[in-house]
Amino acid sequence: MPALVIGTGYGGSVAALRLAEAGVDVHMVEMGMAWDTPGSDGKIFANTTSPDVRSYWLRTRTKQPLSNFLGFPLDKDVPRHTGILDAEEFGGIIVYQGRGVGGGSLVNGGMAVTPRRENFAAVLPSVDAAEMYGTYYPRANAGLGVSTIDPAWFETAECYRYARVGRKHAQRSGFPFVFVPDVYDWDYMKREAAGTATKSALAGEILYGNNHGKKSLQQTYLARAKATGRVTISPLHKVTSVAPATGGGYTVTVEQINTSGDTTATKAMTADKVFFAAGSVGTSKLLVRLKATGALPRLNGEVGKGWGDNGNVMCGRANHMWDATGKLQSSIPTAGIDNWAAGGAFAEVAPLPTGIETYASFYLSITRNPHRAQFSWNAATGRVELNWQTAWKQPSIDAAKTIFDKINAKEGTIYRTDLFGTYKIWGDHLTYHPLGGAVLDKATDNYGRLYGHPGLYVIDGALIPGNTSVNPFVTITALAERNIEKIITTDL
Ligand SMILES: Cc1cc2nc3c(=O)[nH]c(=O)nc-3n(C[C@H](O)[C@H](O)[C@H](O)COP(=O)(O)OP(=O)(O)OC[C@H]3O[C@@H](n4cnc5c(N)ncnc54)[C@H](O)[C@@H]3O)c2cc1C
Repeated sequence: MPALVIGTGYGGSVAALRLAEAGVDVHMVEMGMAWDTPGSDGKIFANTTSPDVRSYWLRTRTKQPLSNFLGFPLDKDVPRHTGILDAEEFGGIIVYQGRGVGGGSLVNGGMAVTPRRENFAAVLPSVDAAEMYGTYYPRANAGLGVSTIDPAWFETAECYRYARVGRKHAQRSGFPFVFVPDVYDWDYMKREAAGTATKSALAGEILYGNNHGKKSLQQTYLARAKATGRVTISPLHKVTSVAPATGGGYTVTVEQINTSGDTTATKAMTADKVFFAAGSVGTSKLLVRLKATGALPRLNGEVGKGWGDNGNVMCGRANHMWDATGKLQSSIPTAGIDNWAAGGAFAEVAPLPTGIETYASFYLSITRNPHRAQFSWNAATGRVELNWQTAWKQPSIDAAKTIFDKINAKEGTIYRTDLFGTYKIWGDHLTYHPLGGAVLDKATDNYGRLYGHPGLYVIDGALIPGNTSVNPFVTITALAERNIEKIITTDL
């Protein structure tokens, strides 16, 4: 076959669509499920407040990002299943990732943020920013279906009381407050609020999938890719090896798995070009192992390096009784506090959709964190390890404190200590935004061509060196649009 794409997230979906439009047949291999069939409750996706068999990737106990509430642990036993959210545990960090056709777009908040141009230039200096902001960011935003909440509706919607309280506190402390675009269908959300459409964001759906309203890749890039008739997808198929084939191209070894995660068949596929789009962690793990075990010996020494957590750190604040944040909270965040220039933190005002009044404000901050980790092969355990240290979150906590210490002082409020354990303020054990591991212009050339093995490409979040200053998927999509255009015109 001409082109094989490993993974069906943002990078993979862009590659598949543009290759197919150029007349190239594409096969996509995805380890997760298709997520196109309702369960026994008639719904495809489980609700955030009641995780079930569909919710976690091959775990026997849930691993909820907010592990505790009012002192009570929230996790519970679930049957082992190829569920939608992977809480992948490395030594110093848990990396949350979407599993299934659509990758992270199945589980994420849909916050679709284009970074400030000066910040982008600092992240990827080898990329022509004028081209990105003139052509590829607009193309990505259009392809993803990005739009911003109607500001008039925001002012009155009960489900955004929490965001208005977040704004009031930010502004009283002098911080810039910005609306954040999203891929959620805002007209649909208005109908949810009016009671004329089945509730999804207003029913708390997000972390384990949205049954309505959110435009995941299934509704955008992948739908268009399939409509070309040139793209096929194999769900529940996991790539385990890529090696040069005798006679040219690459042999890709693929394990078919069942919904318990057991291998039921092993297949060999051959492709002229192979696109690594397994996500920052998936792509890095494959490349590091294939280099170390001799399948792709000519990959360079940059493979596995430059990994970061996008500076993710979470916290909650306890408000006074007169600052109720609302029983009904839309699960789709719509606003943020931008203190990047002064304090190195961009904090999204996040929902806490528990169904009860919590008087809590909750935030996911993206911060400027200088630490970068490396993936390496451990031959003894047969695993790829990541050397991130939990203590490396301290610069992120310090950056977040530039916002929340000031707000707490101004409002006379305190941090919540019951959301991530007992008497624990900071959610510093996780990231939603893994980035890097096969960095552009280091492990690859300036368009994602892997050095050492012509015909192999990286086209996902692994290209980005650890931080984007905002939520990453628009940048991943725009960079993929840029790179695939070049690859199609010069390599095919
Ligand atoms: C809970 C959560 C909330 C988030 N919220 C936001 C947000 O609001 N805004 C934002 O910009 N970003 C958000 N993100 C991050 C965003 O989803 C990711 O940055 C993005 O999905 C990464 O895109 P990607 O193309 O690099 O890879 P992914 O989207 O991760 O896709 C990789 C795919 O490859 C598959 N795969 C991996 N290994 C293999 C293999 N060996 N064989 C076959 N298939 C494989 C995976 O199952 C997956 O489907 C969030 C993430 C999470 C987890």
